[in-house]
Amino acid sequence: MADATLIVEPKRSEIAPGVAVLRALPTRARRLVGAWCFLDHFGPVEGAAMRAFDVGVHPHIGLQTATWLFDGALLHRDSLGSAQPIRAGELNLMTAGSGIAHSEHLGADARCLHGLQFWIALPEAARAIAPRFEHHAGLPQWREGGVSMRLFIGEYAGRQSPARTHSPLLGLELHASAAAALELPLDPGFEHALYLASGHARCDGVEVSAQRLLVLREAAPVARLEFAAGSCAVLIGGAPFAEAPLMWWNFVARDRDEIAAAREDWMARRRFGDVPEGGARIDAPPFDLRLRAGGR
Ligand code: MN
Repeated sequence: MADATLIVEPKRSEIAPGVAVLRALPTRARRLVGAWCFLDHFGPVEGAAMRAFDVGVHPHIGLQTATWLFDGALLHRDSLGSAQPIRAGELNLMTAGSGIAHSEHLGADARCLHGLQFWIALPEAARAIAPRFEHHAGLPQWREGGVSMRLFIGEYAGRQSPARTHSPLLGLELHASAAAALELPLDPGFEHALYLASGHARCDGVEVSAQRLLVLREAAPVARLEFAAGSCAVLIGGAPFAEAPLMWWNFVARDRDEIAAAREDWMARRRFGDVPEGGARIDAPPFDLRLRAGGR
């Protein structure tokens, strides 16, 4: 990795006419930050445009999905029988392991929707574990230098998220309602990136516009941050992921055979189970052998 910080401009992807999500990971410039292998920023949207985020039943393997809302509400359903509403400041963490199916629905009283969807690649030792779903509402929350912090994954400043992960990771939300400056101590053994969802920031002297991912310098012991009023960011980090994940559709695997088998099982209604009241099943796209590895 280079010494300099890297600013990643997310790829814009239209999921319905006039409704786009921003994909900050993976991109050509950067595929992984620790085990964080996927980051979509959706919204803010309101009214009829929110319907694009009502997602039918689809499968996952080899990853954890982490849903983090800034505003609005969703209802998660999965093949374990979970039916879990989620609101801003809460974490839904779904561990696919050997295979799970799920769906996302709009919260009954949601008037707008704004949030992030992350995937975390599971390391070899955890790739085939049984699927699991966790919801965490009472996450560690504190203020520092005028910034409201919420720890949703990992350990930071003597605090600990209850979320169960399988490699050393950090997920920390920072919200500055007024202009603020602070120094954040970092684990020099981690890779880190700051995704600025809204507002404006300066990190170690580098200007960061809204909807950009800033990959921090390797082994930096501290990040010096300045936020404009109304800024909201997420700091992600993790130990460098030693394996090379292969990502195709909703699957994180290591080779093509594994992905082909998962696709076949999904289409044959094996392995993943049914999602009660999940709505329509989403078919897998045709298997494309021009697969690209998710790893660097
Ligand atoms: Mn999903």
